[in-house]
Amino acid sequence: MTTSQAPHRPIEIADILQGIEAGEFHLVYQPQVDSRQGHLLGFESLMRWESATFGTVSPDVFIGIAESRGVIHSLWDCLLEQVVVDLRQLAERDSAPRHIALNLSASQLPVPELSRHIGEWLIGHSLDGAQIHIEITESALLADSPEVMDNLRHLNELGIKLWLDDFGTGYSSLRHLVELPIHGLKIDKLFITTVEENIAHFRLVCAIIAMASSLGLKTVAEGIETENQSQILTQLGCDYFQGYLIGKPDRMDNLLASWMPDRSSQNETL
Ligand code: C2E
Ligand code: MG
Ligand code: MG
Repeated sequence: MTTSQAPHRPIEIADILQGIEAGEFHLVYQPQVDSRQGHLLGFESLMRWESATFGTVSPDVFIGIAESRGVIHSLWDCLLEQVVVDLRQLAERDSAPRHIALNLSASQLPVPELSRHIGEWLIGHSLDGAQIHIEITESALLADSPEVMDNLRHLNELGIKLWLDDFGTGYSSLRHLVELPIHGLKIDKLFITTVEENIAHFRLVCAIIAMASSLGLKTVAEGIETENQSQILTQLGCDYFQGYLIGKPDRMDNLLASWMPDRSSQNETL
């Protein structure tokens, strides 16, 4: 568990609910750029919990607990509220069509009303579907249920781009890549971190990019930390980058201050 101070007892569902009530959850964002010119295209939102009791708790810990105990929907509502505020800030500062990517949990995707709620949220806040991307993990597709398929199709009809996150580490069927309205693949950072020295991972990354390209899918390399990784991935034809080399997750205010608007990329979208 990643915490700034050791918790003296396991995290309970009541702690998460109390944390929501106390406003302890917030979003940070990580820039996503075009691999050739490094133009800013959008941001992935990542949730953080600064708990009065447990210190800084990693989403890898609290998302799992929230999912298993059914409070993921309350966290999702918090997230949507902040995304609206931050999208407005973004639009005021910069007229380029930047998106915010949201992570959707596997347990949310089979909920029949999910895509309808997102559609109503877009309309209610005068947002365009193109301003939102949604990242799902391969495990979310394991259910293969009609509800999951309906939600994905409807989200796509709303203009929301769908990404398969952590691609290469899950169990999804390759059939999903051709049957579902997926926009692209986010290659898991496990393979990106080791692409320089692990020949098997290098070959795997080549194969993923080639397969994606032949299926008309885009690719994001996640977890780029070195110039060398960036050069290798550019040569392999990866479309977009995200990682500490480009920018660490940060509050929208700080990101807006450090990322000056880049007018030359106004027409590019991811
Ligand atoms: P993810 O969606 O795959 O997000 C990418 C993770 O990689 C983030 O960890 C990010 O901080 C980290 N990362 C990005 N670039 C680098 C890099 O260059 N080096 C290294 N070492 N790490 C990098 P984070 O923020 O701890 O999030 C972990 C996971 O928690 C996310 O993985 C996502 O699955 C989940 N998560 C985060 N926020 C949310 C949320 O709002 N909703 C849901 N359902 N899941 C979330
Ligand atoms: Mg993600
Ligand atoms: Mg990922």
